[in-house]
Amino acid sequence: MDETQVTVNDHAAAAFAEQSAGVVARRLNFGLADRRAALSRLESAIRQNEGALVAAMASDFGKPEAEVILTELVPVLQEIRHASRHLRRWMRPRRVAPTLVSLGTAARVRPEPRGVCLIIAPWNYPFSLAIGPLVSALAAGNSAIIKPSEMTPATSAVIARLVKDTFSPDLVTVIEGGVEVSQALLALPFDHIFFTGSPKVGKIVMAAASKTLASVTLELGGKSPAIVGQDADLKRAALWISFGKFANAGQTCIAPDHVFVHSSVKADFLTALRARVTKSYGEGFKSPHLTRIVNDRHAERLSDLLKDAVDKGAKVTFGGAAQDCRMSPTIIEAMTPEMEIDHEEIFGPILPIIVYEDIEEVTRRINERPKPLALYIFDKSLPRVDQIIAATSSGSVGVNLTMAQFTHTGLPFGGVNTSGIGAAHGLDGFRAFSHERAILSNHFSSLPMVFPPYTPGVKRLISVIKRILG
Ligand code: NAD
Repeated sequence: MDETQVTVNDHAAAAFAEQSAGVVARRLNFGLADRRAALSRLESAIRQNEGALVAAMASDFGKPEAEVILTELVPVLQEIRHASRHLRRWMRPRRVAPTLVSLGTAARVRPEPRGVCLIIAPWNYPFSLAIGPLVSALAAGNSAIIKPSEMTPATSAVIARLVKDTFSPDLVTVIEGGVEVSQALLALPFDHIFFTGSPKVGKIVMAAASKTLASVTLELGGKSPAIVGQDADLKRAALWISFGKFANAGQTCIAPDHVFVHSSVKADFLTALRARVTKSYGEGFKSPHLTRIVNDRHAERLSDLLKDAVDKGAKVTFGGAAQDCRMSPTIIEAMTPEMEIDHEEIFGPILPIIVYEDIEEVTRRINERPKPLALYIFDKSLPRVDQIIAATSSGSVGVNLTMAQFTHTGLPFGGVNTSGIGAAHGLDGFRAFSHERAILSNHFSSLPMVFPPYTPGVKRLISVIKRILG
C-alpha cells in the first residue's frame, strides 16, 4: 500500500472513529427536537448556499440554474419539510396486537437509529443525491459520512463546506475524493451503507458490505423503457418524454432510455416529439437550456455508442451533432440487438425509437432484460396500462408522465435487483436508516405452562395448541 492510500485510510478511519464514539450518546439524546433542529439547520444552510450551488453545478457540467433549482434544491427542501412534519409519528413505537400464543404480553416495534452511516453519491445529481439521503439519515437519528462524486468537484467542495459550517464532524462529515476514498470507507464497519451509482459499482459495494454485514440501500441504474401505446395522447407523451430524456442531457437514472412506439402512431408521435424538442432546445448542443456531458470520457463514450449504432445500420433522424462536451438531443431509429446502445445504459441525450405491433413483444423484451429502475407507459386505456404493469417488473412506474415519481415524498423510490435494493424518500428513507426493533414485554404470559419437563399433561396441552394453531 503506498503512502497516499495509508493517509486516505487513516483519514477515513479517524472520521469513522469520531462518529462511532458518539453512538450511545446519540441513541439516548438525539431525539425529536434535536433531529428537527438538525434538519432546520440543514435547510438554512441550503438556502444560504443556493447561489454557490448554482455556480458550482454550472462550472461542473453547465447545468442551467432553473434545472438546479427544480431538480437539486427543491427535492431536498421538500424532503426536509416532509420529514420534519411527520417525524414525530415516524419515531413513535408501533403497538402490535397480541397473538394467541403471546397473550399476556405487550408487543411493540421501536424504530431505532442504525448508528454510523455511509452515503456514497454519484455525479449526475451531485447535490440532491448526497444530501437527500442525509435528510433521512438525520431524521432517523444517525450520524453520517458523505462521499460525494469526484467527477463534480466544484459541487463536492460546496457540499463539504456547507456540511462543515452546519454540523460538528461527529454528526456529519464529508470526505471528498475518488475510488480510493470510497474503498477506504467501504472497508470500515459502518452500520448502514447508502449507495447511489451504477450497478457495476453497486456490486462492489455489496461485496464490501458482506465483509462487515452492514445493511445496504443500493440506488442503481439501468435501461428504463417508455411505451407509447396506440391510444396515447401523443402531444403529452412527446412533452414528458422530451423533458425526461433531455433534462440534465439525459444523465438521469430514471430518464427514459428508449421508447417503444406502436406502429399506428409512430409518425405522429415523432412529429410531436421533434416539435417539442425543437421548442425546448432549438439551438441543439448550443442551447443554454441543455446541460453539458459531464466530461470528455463520457462525451467520447456517447459518440462511440452513436457511431457503433450508425455503423451497424441505425438511422439518426434528429440531432446527432456534438462539440466538445455538448451533444444535441438526438433521436435514432432501427436499433438492433447487435448494437452496444441496445444493451448499455445510454445516460446521455440519445433516444432510440423502437416500433412495435403487439404489446406482448414489448413486455417479453422488457422481461428478458435486467429489471429497469423505471417504466413509463403512455396510453389512455387504463386496462392496457394495468396489463403492462402486471406483466412486467420495475422499480417504479410513471403513467402518462416521466420522472415525477421521484418527487412524490409519499412514494418509495428505488429499484429492483440490478436497478437497486431498498428504497429512499419520506417514510421509506427513514426506514432505510432505521432498525425496526421488536420488543415483547411479559405481563402474565401463560407460555411457562408448556415448558419442560414434558409431562403427559404438558404434552396434552401442546397437542391442543397444535390443533388450534398448527
Ligand atoms: P458510479 O457507480 O461510477 O460512481 C458512484 C460513486 O461510487 C462515486 O462516488 C464514485 O467515486 C464511487 N465509485 C466508483 N467506482 C468505485 C469503486 N470501484 N469502488 C468504490 N467506489 C467507487 O456512478 P456514476 O457514474 O457517478 O453515476 C451514474 C450511475 O448512477 C448510473 O448508472 C445511474 O443510473 C446511477 N444512478 C442511480 C440513481 C438512483 O437513484 N437509482 C441516481 C443517480 C444515478
